[in-house]
Amino acid sequence: RTMSVPTTMKAVVVEQTGGPEVLQYKTEYPVPTPKDGQLLVRNNISGINFIDTYFRTGLYASPKPEILGREGAGVVAAVGPNTTGFAVGDRVAWLSNGGYAEYTAVPAGKTVKIPEGISDEDLMASFLSGLTVLSFAKETYAVQKGDWVLLHAAAGGAGFLMTQILKSIGAHVIGTAGGEEKCALVKSLGADVVIDYRSEEGKDWVKKVKEVTGGRGVDVVYDSVGKDTWEGSLEAVKRKGTVVWFGNASGPVPPIPLPKLSPKCVKIARPTLFGYIETREEFEYYTNELFRLLKSGELKVKIHKIYPMEDIKQVHQDLEGRKTMGKPLIKP
Ligand code: NDP
Repeated sequence: RTMSVPTTMKAVVVEQTGGPEVLQYKTEYPVPTPKDGQLLVRNNISGINFIDTYFRTGLYASPKPEILGREGAGVVAAVGPNTTGFAVGDRVAWLSNGGYAEYTAVPAGKTVKIPEGISDEDLMASFLSGLTVLSFAKETYAVQKGDWVLLHAAAGGAGFLMTQILKSIGAHVIGTAGGEEKCALVKSLGADVVIDYRSEEGKDWVKKVKEVTGGRGVDVVYDSVGKDTWEGSLEAVKRKGTVVWFGNASGPVPPIPLPKLSPKCVKIARPTLFGYIETREEFEYYTNELFRLLKSGELKVKIHKIYPMEDIKQVHQDLEGRKTMGKPLIKP
């Protein structure tokens, strides 16, 4: 089978680092050609992740000009040389770079066929974020039934899924989120305790965590907020507990003097999803687990909103302005 592919496409390009204003929506950008081991995917829907803002600002280095966006779902439009396992027309999802575009050339090794019964939208609401929470709850720290877990930004793209995964394991979840609406959402997922860490009452969330854990602290903290929460997270963890830092929503965690960990024998981790899905076997292990959870309905997704691609500046403003709940998506 073949599919006719145009020579130009709509895409969002970043030529230099900066605020949302550097996101340039172009209508006649060249369509890439798939190289060895690659597929050309016509994206139906692409995921927006907080990491996209790090590449935009330069917090994480990447070559420019760059098309941001680390995941997409759509249809294989062309198969590159020496690429096996996929055919034109296959419904697929991928993890790579360049999702803010109608077409993306992606490595077949990080592409999967989407099973029947799972929509592109539901998968994009749970693909990068879902694989993250599944691997972090299993490998960074193996969450056990009965553990007390503190999860920051629990109403976010990753947080919404993590809350459910933690509850399904049988952990006690203390979720933080900003504002009543987000807190209600987290509560509706079965979180045991929800703290509005932006409210007057919730500002001292460390004290509240100590209270609800009988003074002991939590077994593990999952902290993707970073700069604003890292110190509290170290205080809120129990003796012999683990703190997992995995994001910089408020800015990066500064270098930590190791002696800070000694008094409570704390373990710390700073994982990245890509380190857990490097091999095809690892990638398929977590994607299959995600597919199972989505198909069975055990994992619910929440799409904040599907934005048209030309509204990309607004998407970044909403995400960085803490206005989103669940996952923002764009329609290329
Ligand atoms: P979210 O949808 O969770 O958005 C970020 C949330 O962080 C906001 O909604 C907000 O929630 C909270 N937040 C707290 N302080 C700030 C601040 N100063 N500015 C902006 N937001 C703030 O994003 P994602 O689901 O895409 O990602 C969540 C986090 O996980 C990010 O830090 C991301 O980098 C990280 N991540 C890391 C991965 C890895 O491999 N290491 C993989 C995937 C995600 P509230 O209003 O409730 O405070």
